Amino acid sequence: MKCFRKNAFKRKIEYILYIFGGITACLFSGCGQKEILTLESVDTAMGTIIQQRIYVSEGQDTQLADKVIEQINRLEAEELSWRIETSELAGVNAGQGKVKLSEEMTDILQTCFQVAEASKGAFDPTIGAVVRLWDIDSWAQMEDTQYYHLPQAALLENELEAAGYEKLSLDGVKEELYLPEGMYLDLGAVGKGIALDRTRELLEEQASGAVISAGGSILTFGEKPDQTPWRVGITDPENPSGSIGYLELQGQWCISTSGDYERYVEVDGVRYHHIIDPDTGYPADSGVRSVTILTKDGLLSDALSTACFVLGVEEGMELAEQFDGEALFVTVDGELKMTTGMETCFHTR
Ligand code: FAD
Ligand code: MG
Repeated sequence: MKCFRKNAFKRKIEYILYIFGGITACLFSGCGQKEILTLESVDTAMGTIIQQRIYVSEGQDTQLADKVIEQINRLEAEELSWRIETSELAGVNAGQGKVKLSEEMTDILQTCFQVAEASKGAFDPTIGAVVRLWDIDSWAQMEDTQYYHLPQAALLENELEAAGYEKLSLDGVKEELYLPEGMYLDLGAVGKGIALDRTRELLEEQASGAVISAGGSILTFGEKPDQTPWRVGITDPENPSGSIGYLELQGQWCISTSGDYERYVEVDGVRYHHIIDPDTGYPADSGVRSVTILTKDGLLSDALSTACFVLGVEEGMELAEQFDGEALFVTVDGELKMTTGMETCFHTR
């Protein structure tokens, strides 16, 4: 029997947009001698909710929240989207064969291939065709999933055959990429992390502190007016409206979480989520429900959270540490496993 359910992700978006109405609110608060302006906004981009709280001092940019969301929309439309035909990624996928890349796309792909290699392909941005066959991201947002069909095993096998980061050749110096026929790139696992890296560059001159969340990826920057640490809640996979605890952080960090609890469909009582194991072509089944990665860099934290979800606790911990990242795993048994650095900033309520 196929299931019919009200989608939790969509409900969450509707609820948050209802509460905040996407309005940019400006509040002045006195902090010692300094006047600090708080900019707040809630928008949607990249298929998710973008929430901003930015603190600016006198003389800094009071239009910063609008600029951040404009930049994220541009990043999606001009560089990363696989749906918008005019984006660079869509052009790469349509062109196949040898393609000229922008400097930005070359940098993105170089980091992606480093993580692909280090994770032995657990994170693999070349599995675009496999991801599209599953199409979980689209279906997970629908109210009625009774017409969802699992992809045929033979088709999955064909698309997996064409994928594989090791088949790609990227010349970072000439900014050229050779994309073999039948291979499609998908940067869905890292898009929000890249958005946070670009946002940080915008904030650098123009804000004293900020916390920006883009779906499962969060950036903390600078400091709060009262100088207390940033607190970032970690979602409870068992009850996604609640949390299992929070991270307490000072200054600039990127925190990305990958989990099986937000984007999935259920068929005959089985949950099929959106993180694919490139070894099998099926949703990863490594004994974890969520992985949170803490690093200084958004692209890296986002790529690592996906890779670690596929790898599971042991190999995932090793991978995170290889990139100086901290990791927190919630296992299918509800256990918490974390690196020692993570222990110092994770607190339960
Ligand atoms: P993550 O774990 O960070 O990533 C999971 C995503 O990465 C999967 O959805 C898939 O795309 C890809 N992936 C799966 N397995 C692997 C793997 N082993 N290695 C590498 N990549 C993998 N969603 C919508 O519903 N509608 C939209 O219009 C839409 N537009 C988007 C536009 C952009 C530019 C981006 C970046 C995202 C967009 N999304 C959209 C969301 C997207 O479809 C994914 O759901 C989302 O990026 C997943 O992020 P995550 O943090 O939940 O999971
Ligand atoms: Mg990710």
